Amino acid sequence: MKANAAVFTEIGKDLTIEQIDIDDPRPNEVLVRTAACGVCHSDVHFAKGAILGPIPTVPGHEPAGIVEAVGADVTSVEVGDHVIACTSMFCGKCNQCLNGRPYLCMDRRQCQRKKGDTPRISLNGEKLTQFADLSAFSEKMLVHETAVVKIDKDIPLESAALVGCAVTTGVGAALNTAKVRPGSSVAVFGVGGIGISVIQGARIAGARQIIAIDLVPAKLETAKKFGATHTLLGGPDSPDGDPVKALKKLSGGGVDFAFDAVGVPQLSKQCFYALAPKGLAVIVGAIPTGQKLEVDPGHFYLEKSITGCFMGSNRFHIDALHYLDFYKQGRLDLDAMITDRMGLNDINKAFGLLDSGEITRAVITFE
Ligand SMILES: [Zn+2]
Ligand SMILES: [Zn+2]
Repeated sequence: MKANAAVFTEIGKDLTIEQIDIDDPRPNEVLVRTAACGVCHSDVHFAKGAILGPIPTVPGHEPAGIVEAVGADVTSVEVGDHVIACTSMFCGKCNQCLNGRPYLCMDRRQCQRKKGDTPRISLNGEKLTQFADLSAFSEKMLVHETAVVKIDKDIPLESAALVGCAVTTGVGAALNTAKVRPGSSVAVFGVGGIGISVIQGARIAGARQIIAIDLVPAKLETAKKFGATHTLLGGPDSPDGDPVKALKKLSGGGVDFAFDAVGVPQLSKQCFYALAPKGLAVIVGAIPTGQKLEVDPGHFYLEKSITGCFMGSNRFHIDALHYLDFYKQGRLDLDAMITDRMGLNDINKAFGLLDSGEITRAVITFE
């Protein structure tokens, strides 16, 4: 079958809208009619060449939609179900999966078609690689069963879509990766979609102090609405001065948890240096390939730690439903995170907006 999709063929070039071919679902695959897909920094990084991967491809990995067809062996969803999809699909059999870390699945190939097999998606007979094994900037997606989770039909699909990446990553970074404790002090560098989600996660966890740091004053105002208790303006000319000193002062000696929601070595370093003894710095944003992170090892005497964070250490099939419960209870605000809505034809505009650093989340909506 055919579907309009945003195809990416060359680093630095705009995406083009093409009619792609989508194969029929195999036994463990699900065909979803995409309703909405958030635009994530990973999509933009990829299009700029900061994250490398096979092309041509269709980006997009933060979607929600309605199941249109299922393969013969699919049991978890049926036609008509509302679903969200996440790239954290899993085999269910490897050591990581069996240890309760399906987001680190070591045999993800089980969720893909074999090399040389008919591709799930193609353009004029040429294979398109599925970005994040999803390729969601497309009217339809053909994905592995474990990529999708059924959600209640009364949840707006464009809000639910954000749970596919930003919210799972950010809220999960606070609740799963860092395990923020009630009463702790937290710093969040960069308050776009991921940073706002970290703030909301820290608030849900009961953090006493949540300090947001960003270069854009308007985004700091936004951060307050989502739960930041304090804000600091970053950048060399900021009246707030050196963020490490400012954070130490505000927190009375250092924060318990610091999150780099952008993925810039300089910010990761500031996260580490701003910690209280025994504190934890969590690198949530993807640091571009080739860049290095250097820290003064003297800080390890204070038992400070740095950890990576992949997709909020999620168990998507459990976490996504928990986050949507928080949403229904008014404890997690998804609606206000969406600052811009546009159609698939405006995909390049959406990429530019996100890259400008001035918005929280843009969502591509489909008719
Ligand atoms: Zn993402
Ligand atoms: Zn696995």
